[in-house]
Amino acid sequence: MIIGIDDTDSNEGMCTTYLGALLLEELQEYGNIETLPLLVRLNPTIPYKTRGNAAVALKLKTDCPEKVIAHVTSRIEELARMECEKTNPGAVFIQDKDYGRLRPVLMRFLEEAVRDVIEIKKAKDLISILGIASKGFKNGRGLIGALAACGAMLDQDGLDFTFEHLAYRQKDRWGTPREVDKKSFFEADKETYPETWDTVDLTNRLVVCVPHSADPVLFGIRGESPEIVNKAASLIRAEPVERFAVYRTNQGTDMHLLPAQNIAETRDMHSYRLEGTVSAAPKTLEGGHVIFAVRDREGAEIDCAAFEPTKNFRSLIRKLVPGDLICLSGSVTSGTLNIEKIEIKSLAPVSREENPMCPECGKHMKSSGRGQGFRCKKCGTDSPSKVRSEVDRDLDPGLYEVPPCARRHLAKPLAREKRRDIRLNPAR
Ligand code: ATP
Repeated sequence: MIIGIDDTDSNEGMCTTYLGALLLEELQEYGNIETLPLLVRLNPTIPYKTRGNAAVALKLKTDCPEKVIAHVTSRIEELARMECEKTNPGAVFIQDKDYGRLRPVLMRFLEEAVRDVIEIKKAKDLISILGIASKGFKNGRGLIGALAACGAMLDQDGLDFTFEHLAYRQKDRWGTPREVDKKSFFEADKETYPETWDTVDLTNRLVVCVPHSADPVLFGIRGESPEIVNKAASLIRAEPVERFAVYRTNQGTDMHLLPAQNIAETRDMHSYRLEGTVSAAPKTLEGGHVIFAVRDREGAEIDCAAFEPTKNFRSLIRKLVPGDLICLSGSVTSGTLNIEKIEIKSLAPVSREENPMCPECGKHMKSSGRGQGFRCKKCGTDSPSKVRSEVDRDLDPGLYEVPPCARRHLAKPLAREKRRDIRLNPAR
């Protein structure tokens, strides 16, 4: 049986992955857990999300499905933050005999939940047409994520996955500041990067894998395999861990990006890979956000932004000039593309006027007076006018990303790219 769960938490506490970790242990009373639990990140622009728009799926071999459904339902009732308006839990239960029948439909539903916006009605209709056992609470919005998570569990062989070791705090510490030895995160990163990523942000000297909210997560280590995330976690020195779970996840895979053929087809609340030419130079706005315009082949334009939280990434963006050919990855919100990654494909030549060089000594000539050309006093050479020379752009073509402190869960880090023209953090 596959169990999909979503939308149990609020900003004041809980985390659907924690409920997943509890159920992993508790459901052993009713059967055997068959594979690693799944942590699925859905459309990152959805306004109903609490934090990272995550849903969870577990897979269990059981001969008492009714007991499993009753147990999961009662644990959601006990633990979900029902008092929060934004918390609308949902759980769905797929029987083994239905895997083949439901696989193609739920795989499509997953893709839509990651890349598009879905109405609650669509999830409820699908559940009733396909005869899926489910339990929705309040408006039942969590059924969307719960169905999508089941789709991911049914497509384990077809999707790109990474792993996360999530360590949880003891309950009496929830809501208090986390006691962690920051240095140990830098040591763990040094030992395991690039097989792990987003543990620390070296340029900005930050530990990025420890949340600051009231939820039960102590830290989460992301990486390419269960072994490597466990190894990094074993190097962390921190307050006692109540439990941990290693999740298989679509984090760090770029699964949210749609290839955009042109700007006209881009819509708010969707994420794209979009190619175009810089058409207006970057400007720094109040608050430190850097905005510039990109034009496509049809002449349409879109504003693109490196917002203040992208920190040092903005100094790269400020070096762009009109005419640079780029390919951007990012989400569109209020008509502006929020950049996650940039590939600089070619740089426009930039030139400036300057005094001519003396062919003898190689130094710049001096003006001989208004309209009288230029002259090198030392060598006696002269030239009638200024010359244009190409300016060094101080920027190389290649692929660049926002720093770990500004990374979207779904964005594929360059540490996972096996290309040679990537621009890894120079601090390494
Ligand atoms: P956490 O990750 O900490 O558990 P969260 O950020 O995942 O919190 P949720 O509480 O799960 O946020 O809220 C997101 C809600 O949006 C869920 O009800 C989910 O079903 C719904 N949802 C997810 N993807 C889509 C989508 N593509 N279209 C419409 N609704 C969606």
